[in-house]
Amino acid sequence: IEEKFDAIVVGAGMSGNAAALTMAKRGMKVLQLERGEYAGSKNVQGAILYADMLEKLIPDFRDDAPLERHLVEQRFWMMDDRSHFGVHYRSEDFNEERPNRYTIIRAQFDKWFSSKVREAGATVLCETTVTELARDAHGKVIGVRTDRRDGEIHADVVVLAEGVNGLLGTHARLRERPKPDKVALAVKEMHFLPRETIEAHFNLKGDEGVVVEAAGTISRGMTGMGFIYANKECISIGIGCIVADFQRTGETPYGLLDRFKRHPSVAPLIEGSEVKEYSAHLIPEGGYKAIPQLYGDGWVVVGDAAQLNNAIHREGSNLAMTSGRIAAEAIVQVKSRRQPMTAANLSVYKKMLDDSFVIKDLKKHRDMPMLMHTNSQNFFLTYPQLVSRAMQNYVRVDGTPKAEKEKVTLRSFVNARSWTGLFGDAFRLARAWR
Ligand code: FAD
Repeated sequence: IEEKFDAIVVGAGMSGNAAALTMAKRGMKVLQLERGEYAGSKNVQGAILYADMLEKLIPDFRDDAPLERHLVEQRFWMMDDRSHFGVHYRSEDFNEERPNRYTIIRAQFDKWFSSKVREAGATVLCETTVTELARDAHGKVIGVRTDRRDGEIHADVVVLAEGVNGLLGTHARLRERPKPDKVALAVKEMHFLPRETIEAHFNLKGDEGVVVEAAGTISRGMTGMGFIYANKECISIGIGCIVADFQRTGETPYGLLDRFKRHPSVAPLIEGSEVKEYSAHLIPEGGYKAIPQLYGDGWVVVGDAAQLNNAIHREGSNLAMTSGRIAAEAIVQVKSRRQPMTAANLSVYKKMLDDSFVIKDLKKHRDMPMLMHTNSQNFFLTYPQLVSRAMQNYVRVDGTPKAEKEKVTLRSFVNARSWTGLFGDAFRLARAWR
């Protein structure tokens, strides 16, 4: 390609599409490059879509986006091997005109999102892998090289929206490769069932949806979570744990998923289903402390490639869309002032991101990832087992006086963790959460 572009976006996931769309809508000449056969073909998500962040890009998205179910219920489960203790929140308020959260299937959703990017005027090239960043003699990024025979393609700025692996950025030494204790490996299956069966299994009507998020002994003492999302005609079920924990324990992701599916609280939900898809993907989980340099001479990085993922609240795509949009708005600002795309001028992206929920939320929970990781045995094994036993002791009516039952429960906690351990855990958790 001979012509020069205002911006090249690497990747057509949530962050890349948000960035390309925003810049194209503002009249910039944008080239977007995606290695997959089509946008979404390589992408994995649970998946919950957060409407607010998409509305900021495509206000009328509900008219034609491939949405599955709007969420009316959230279930949090703390599990041991035979039980779960849950907090469920369901509200009729979520049956609103403009629902706040939907389940989606990324392959379909990304295709649709990409069609909006094209409609806005961006050039989108799929089946094109960016192999290298092109730089000038001063090290400024001036474009990219791809696996096509077109040679270098030049642009004023390159938006790195290449996802969690971020090979391009790490090879170019713009940031470090994500460390095994800062990324989770998640596996997911799609279980197909007739629509009415799904609605009966999850107590839903129409397009109502439900999400189950589960932690406990299902991750065998590793830092991780399982999830179950009801779509229209299939159920997404998966589990993910920190990669360093897999290395330490020798557990396998598919082994965990298999056990999760056979758990007595889970098996009835997917009973009779047919598995048609299986996928695996990394998730950035290092939080605020893992965020790399976000901009430089001729480049910015967004989404998972920038480790912008809120593992505590299980949000990623919304941070990706927001960082993509904000980076694009920063670029438009620099361009409209006719300034060059230098690190100094692009630093406005970081300032704008710092003011958004993306950095504020990650900063708030900056100590949580390390706390969870270094105390995984306690939080994901010991406490779930203790809570399960306490609950069973509480609800089982067997003639034991209640005061005695309470003593037994308290003793089980103290024996397992000691008073110092219990207060220490509570203190560390409260401090990391604040
Ligand atoms: P991606 O969506 O990964 O997109 C990166 C794109 O770049 C890909 O299309 C890839 O093919 C392309 N690419 C990479 N390298 C190159 C290259 N060299 N040249 C050209 N193209 C390239 N988030 C939520 O908000 N809700 C959820 O329910 C949720 N569930 C999840 C469940 C799982 C199992 C996983 C793995 C993640 C989940 N996430 C969820 C996180 C969410 O999927 C990510 O945060 C989000 O997809 C990040 O978007 P992105 O655009 O940064 O990266």
